[in-house]
Amino acid sequence: METLESELAAARDLDVAALADAIESIGFECTRCGGCCTGYAPDEPGGAPAGAGVDETGGDVKSEADDDTGGCNGGDGGDVDREPHTATVFPDEVRRVAEAAEREFGEAYDWRDVARPMPFGLDADAEGDPVGETFEWALATDDCGDCTFYEESDGRGACTVHDARPLICRTYPFSVALEGTSQPMGEAVDEAGVVRAHECEGLGRDITRQDAEELAAALKERAVRELEEAIGVRDGYDPGASDRADGDVVVFDSEGPKEADGTPVDGD
Ligand code: SF4
Repeated sequence: METLESELAAARDLDVAALADAIESIGFECTRCGGCCTGYAPDEPGGAPAGAGVDETGGDVKSEADDDTGGCNGGDGGDVDREPHTATVFPDEVRRVAEAAEREFGEAYDWRDVARPMPFGLDADAEGDPVGETFEWALATDDCGDCTFYEESDGRGACTVHDARPLICRTYPFSVALEGTSQPMGEAVDEAGVVRAHECEGLGRDITRQDAEELAAALKERAVRELEEAIGVRDGYDPGASDRADGDVVVFDSEGPKEADGTPVDGD
């Protein structure tokens, strides 16, 4: 079992040119299908492709609460439930996305507008509200379970905070085979060297060397950041934080324990 520190050292040693070679050999071009930005049906490996919200039985893909939403991306109500999109976002990325959204939409974005406690590991109380401790933030989702920053028109998806989007978005559908780093959306469907590729309709398409190198650099940055974050969470874990918190959910990130709205839990 490797330690997080040894994996972090390995991540810092990753050769960007070799990563770019691997990405080039696998091939990738974003088709703007929105699959990695949207909620997904339980039997789908990823999100619902833009404009493809109709399931094989003819029913439209619907969210947990879309009956009065006027329709979701990729569908407008029907009989197939969607799981909400979950993408990890680091605390500094939450602030950067909030700033980008404020510039884009001309209104204030607070923490909760950008991120929510990652639901994995949380329990539900008698009313079904989440309770417990979790160790990541996820991008906020809308009533359809799609990323709140995803927009779609004429079957083509777009990120409204594109230049500030988190590393997980900049590097999808790739990951690196290091323990302690994320492996998004199920098993790898292709691999080259230490690079793994996950379900995505854009795989196998030609990619320019420049784009491959940019993606490779972001992939390395993400691996390093994920491991730094994991080490920060491990070292900063405070078992008394949940007792001191005002809310029922505490998120431990590398900056310390936070309430669900991103405010720090007060110390002893
Ligand atoms: S931030 Fe942008 S790229 Fe990332 S999931 Fe949301 S819409 Fe997609």
